[in-house]
Amino acid sequence: MFDFHMHSDFSEDCSTPMEATIEAAIAKGFSQICFTEHVDYDYPDPDFTFDLGTVNYEKKIREMQEKYAGQITVKKGIEIGIQPHLFERYHKLLNKESFDFIICSMHASDKKDLHNGDFFAGRTPEEAYQFYYEELLYCVERFDRYSILGHIDLVKRYKKLDVERNFHDIIGEIFKTIIPKGKGIEVNASGFAYGLGSPMPSRDILELYHDLGGEIITIGSDAHKAEHVGHRFDEILAMLDDIGFENIATFTDEEPTLHKITEIR
Ligand SMILES: [Zn+2]
Ligand SMILES: [Zn+2]
Repeated sequence: MFDFHMHSDFSEDCSTPMEATIEAAIAKGFSQICFTEHVDYDYPDPDFTFDLGTVNYEKKIREMQEKYAGQITVKKGIEIGIQPHLFERYHKLLNKESFDFIICSMHASDKKDLHNGDFFAGRTPEEAYQFYYEELLYCVERFDRYSILGHIDLVKRYKKLDVERNFHDIIGEIFKTIIPKGKGIEVNASGFAYGLGSPMPSRDILELYHDLGGEIITIGSDAHKAEHVGHRFDEILAMLDDIGFENIATFTDEEPTLHKITEIR
């Protein structure tokens, strides 16, 4: 099994050394994992800078690959925090450095932080959801330097809707934009830990992705602590199988490799 979203002390919001997470993954029988450290340029909360020491990161990943060779494959990934004014800066970074896997996530919208709640001030939850998805659509129409979209319905984690509205129209537009470009999405298990009762995205959105022809999907724990590696992956695999997905993707040098779900389960 594979876990393609996790953080170590190279991410500003995480203090877990890579070794701890790798050893937890080996103990759980994982064959391949990918660290996806944060780079969030111009992050609106001044308490965080979310930059990455790329030279040390490269060096550390190589060390880990050698140290754990034969036990587990360790990939070098990155999670970029996209915003409409940052395409150029990310192009520069991603052209200079090499990564196996690039997660494109939106942690700030309208130049405001989702996490600290600023983005939701002065908006109804419906307005906030709509704005978030429209801005994400704007980004994926213009920015292609990534492998998959991270936790696409993240906005749900911070603000619950009173009335059940699924936003499938706008999310469908996002899928219709990314699928022909060969981009995928992830299933992010941290939704369980944040009390959503499901991974991110939720099953209805995964069904929509499947209905629109989406095939590239990765699974990630978004672990910031070693014990969260692979959290509830069995349930996620069962759900994906049930929806009708056939494969899980891993990435090397930004190229996907597909693995049959029936052979992993
Ligand atoms: Zn994220
Ligand atoms: Zn993450």
